[in-house]
Amino acid sequence: MENKIIHHFVKKKRRKLFLEYAKEMEENMKRSLTCSIDQEIFRNPTLLTCGHTFCLTCVKKLIEIAKEKGQNTFPCPLCKHNNNVQEEEFKPNHLAKSQVETLTLRCRNTGCNQLLKGCEWEKHEEEECDYRRCKCKNRANGCLFESAYKDIHPHLMEDCEHYACKYQKYGCSFLGRKDSIIQHCQNNECIYHKLRGFLKGTYEKQCREIADLKYKLNQQSEQLGLLENRVRNEITGNNNNHYDNHYDDDETINYSSNNNNDTSDEEDTNSD
Ligand SMILES: [Zn+2]
Ligand SMILES: [Zn+2]
Ligand SMILES: [Zn+2]
Ligand SMILES: [Zn+2]
Ligand SMILES: [Zn+2]
Repeated sequence: MENKIIHHFVKKKRRKLFLEYAKEMEENMKRSLTCSIDQEIFRNPTLLTCGHTFCLTCVKKLIEIAKEKGQNTFPCPLCKHNNNVQEEEFKPNHLAKSQVETLTLRCRNTGCNQLLKGCEWEKHEEEECDYRRCKCKNRANGCLFESAYKDIHPHLMEDCEHYACKYQKYGCSFLGRKDSIIQHCQNNECIYHKLRGFLKGTYEKQCREIADLKYKLNQQSEQLGLLENRVRNEITGNNNNHYDNHYDDDETINYSSNNNNDTSDEEDTNSD
């Protein structure tokens, strides 16, 4: 009986020691898989040429800072070895990645706290977690609402006042809640409905006018070119007469050679 009790306690003690050991092992592993730049478990662990590993986004930030300073290299934060800013030099650290995947990690989004397998952790935080930060899809219309993913849907359904009329691109500037947009269009309040015919007519008229103006502009620049040539020819012709200069212009050459011919003919006749 006494032996049985002792055996039971030994077994319990062993189990406790084993669990403590396993926990310590996991903590050590987490420490060695922690990026020394952002103090988080590696995301897309990336090897620098010196052999040290950091998250891909952390490496990209180092590169960005170096480029802003106009430098071609950046020092490794751990060993100060100079690494080239060329990103293709850096390879993923597959070993670290597979080790991260064996860990049990907690979601870091505020309010979530869920424990996950390392292989599901990143996807959960960025794409699946109800607590991941999201912006309202109507931010292009001026909505600044930002919240946990789970609160975006109620905002869009009830609160968001930044839905735009579907005829926004035609000049309707109406913004409102989802239901008031429907009313706006159904009640023909939309400026687009009122002015559709007018706008269409004006648009087509303007298109015709633009085409017409383009045609005239082409014609005028053609005429201008001809006029310019004529003026240039006249000027160079005159210059030739006065100063006997040589110009590349065909007409001028003909003109002057004709003159020469004339004179030589005259001379010929004279000599005869
Ligand atoms: Zn990092
Ligand atoms: Zn290093
Ligand atoms: Zn989460
Ligand atoms: Zn909104
Ligand atoms: Zn409208």
